[in-house]
Amino acid sequence: MKLDPKALRFLSREDFRTLVSIEMAMKNHEFAPVPLIQSIANLKFGGCKKSIQTLHKFKLLFHDGRKYDGYKLTYLGYDFLALKAFVSRGTISFVGNQIGVGKESDIYIVANDDNEEFVLKLHRLGRTSFKTIKNNRDYLKHRKSASWLYLSRLAALKEYAYMKALHDNGFPVPNPVDYNRHCIVMSRVRGYPLTQVTELRHPSRVYSDLMRLIVRLASYGLIHGDFNEFNILIDDEEHITLIDFPQMVSTSHMNAEMYFDRDVQCIRTYFEKRFDFIGESWPKFSDIRNDHNLDVQIAASGFTRDNEKELNTLVEEQEGNEKDLESVTQDDLDSDSDSDSEDSEEEDDDDDDDDEVEEVVEEIKGLHVNRNRDFK
Ligand code: ADP
Ligand code: MG
Repeated sequence: MKLDPKALRFLSREDFRTLVSIEMAMKNHEFAPVPLIQSIANLKFGGCKKSIQTLHKFKLLFHDGRKYDGYKLTYLGYDFLALKAFVSRGTISFVGNQIGVGKESDIYIVANDDNEEFVLKLHRLGRTSFKTIKNNRDYLKHRKSASWLYLSRLAALKEYAYMKALHDNGFPVPNPVDYNRHCIVMSRVRGYPLTQVTELRHPSRVYSDLMRLIVRLASYGLIHGDFNEFNILIDDEEHITLIDFPQMVSTSHMNAEMYFDRDVQCIRTYFEKRFDFIGESWPKFSDIRNDHNLDVQIAASGFTRDNEKELNTLVEEQEGNEKDLESVTQDDLDSDSDSDSEDSEEEDDDDDDDDEVEEVVEEIKGLHVNRNRDFK
């Protein structure tokens, strides 16, 4: 799926208000029922139904008319809500090219009105598994999964919180600029992933910089957990920047030593294979002195210990889902509409929700996205 911002310009204030209402209704419903959307959006003269049609046309909503009289947000719908928030805060004004697509994220170059460029990372946790789970109704009956919306939002918050704490402590990581829903905006690193580099002028220096970084992280109680050639960017001066933090684990984790050694070995093996460089020395977990603590700073961004536990449990559950569902055939995956829900929650139209809609709608007014800007 491509993040095509042009549809943003066609959406009215009412359309966005309806989109926000659907997001709210999805807190308690897999498919938001139309009467609930209408009551939250509170638009005059059937305006809500018209907006739902527009949003559906732009593929911001998914609707399975055969089974439900309800709608849910697509990734694109959720992306638009986050984008609109960033634009109204002045964080970004332009969306440029996609520079990365991972299993669990999409990465775009973006820019603000002053032509400063940034990187937008949209988290897509559960992109694969939620699609498959929907097709396995028996499975759903036994285990109710959190929605991808929630999971992706937690992952983005975690990444933002860690990036900020690390950046504030002088670690070579991008500068986290803003965060909303499942997306973060960070500074753009001028460099390439190590995986694209065929030769290093100073392999020994880069190797020891990387090992020192692993040790310094551990002295702050952290293990990256995915410290590999894809998550290390290197510039022309052979300075390194570390990215991609949602899987960060604590040095007090019961398998911490395994994660630590895996990060270390990953670099050793890669340097030998790619640069023909054999690291003579490397750090051991038992030598680490954990004399700093980032807990307070991480919690200050809104990511708590409870969030951490919840995210770990949910991610494990997703991984379990993916394994269990490996046998699902491509035909199953393609029949996107064959889903089911056991939900029959009460409708919840709190007064608080109305205020929240007002706030978000105010926030998302006045968006402009200029697709003609050139990105280098
Ligand atoms: P994923 O979770 O999908 O692996 P990453 O955060 O590792 O996502 O980003 C994927 C790719 O996007 C990276 O390998 C890199 O090429 C590019 N990228 C990510 N963040 C930045 C950044 N701040 N500056 C420049 N390039 C980036
Ligand atoms: Mg990565």
